[in-house]
Amino acid sequence: MVSITVENLSKRFGKTVALNDISLKIEAGELFFLLGASGCGKTTLLRHLAGFYSPDKGKILFGSEDVTSTPPHKRNTAMMFQSYALWPHMTVARNIAFGLEERKIPRAEIKQRVIEVLDTVKMTEYSERKINELSGGQQQRTALARALIVRPQCLLLDEPLSNLDAKLRLEMRSEIRRICKQFGLTAVYVTHDQKEALSIADRMAILDAGSVSQVGTAQEIYRSPRTKSVADFIGETNFITGTVKQGNLENYWDVITPYGSFNGRKADPEWIPEAGDSVTLSIRPEAFMLSETNPGINAITGKMASLTYLGEIAQYGISLEDGELLQIAALNPSILHQPGELQYHASANRDDVILIRDATS
Ligand code: ATP
Repeated sequence: MVSITVENLSKRFGKTVALNDISLKIEAGELFFLLGASGCGKTTLLRHLAGFYSPDKGKILFGSEDVTSTPPHKRNTAMMFQSYALWPHMTVARNIAFGLEERKIPRAEIKQRVIEVLDTVKMTEYSERKINELSGGQQQRTALARALIVRPQCLLLDEPLSNLDAKLRLEMRSEIRRICKQFGLTAVYVTHDQKEALSIADRMAILDAGSVSQVGTAQEIYRSPRTKSVADFIGETNFITGTVKQGNLENYWDVITPYGSFNGRKADPEWIPEAGDSVTLSIRPEAFMLSETNPGINAITGKMASLTYLGEIAQYGISLEDGELLQIAALNPSILHQPGELQYHASANRDDVILIRDATS
């Protein structure tokens, strides 16, 4: 197992700053995700780890070894792409063996390793099938086997599941985690799919315009986003602007908003909010409780404008006095509140009201 350290990595393509002074430490054996909006630099960073790009500035270390100038085939990484890049007319076994044949490994050893890796990805019975006779999921398993057979110390995955349907994606994401843990791989995984990341990541980094906005576990990122873009990118949220009224009271702050006073906590450890600071509050839809009586604290009042029933949750839109719409999600709803003229009060626990510094985007 090997850790990956990225130090002050920068890369430009012409005028585009693809990576802007990125520093990250990925622990040995960790399943680490890179997330962020399209064009934020995820694939560029992954390709630097593989050695396909060299940075303008900065370093990459595998363990204590500086690999910044090491060519791809000497890094002991394997990359799995969105398009699996398999040879359609060759058998599964030949596709998998190819990487070892190139490395001049003895035939008997190749045969043994192909058998082992086919078993790992549950493809033994398909070993003699041609790629164009396989389903999408089976092709994906073959591509994974081909990456694993070279016994990489790092597995780099670029949107590996994006060609699969929703059900297969669910199945394969837990397979990928199982395999990474079984082999003790340090894996870096790029995706657009936040559910994929939330469900299997040990930790993740959210990138924004070539910079790292936040690194943490799924729960840290979801419950304690430090910037508006992180709060917005992972899950749904409501933003309410306000001004800090009172300083630190056991790590909770009072904030005055156009809808009333809120008490909440901040997520950024490097920031101490002060009276008069402009802030944005982030409150998740499922953090709100609905009632017909006003609980007085941390509550917003409005009329029910919309109801969408989705079985396990009901999504409500509460229309506020100024025309803004508050999104609320009620889990396991037994009673449904209908749109109409009745006033509702939506209140949130102070641990679910997150203060975000307004200077951050
Ligand atoms: P997506 O989610 O859409 O795949 P991404 O986060 O992986 O996006 P990158 O592919 O890393 O983003 O691209 C980062 C930025 O660098 C983008 O603005 C992109 O247009 C630019 N870029 C990437 N590769 C090149 C290249 N080879 N030449 C020029 N510009 C590039």
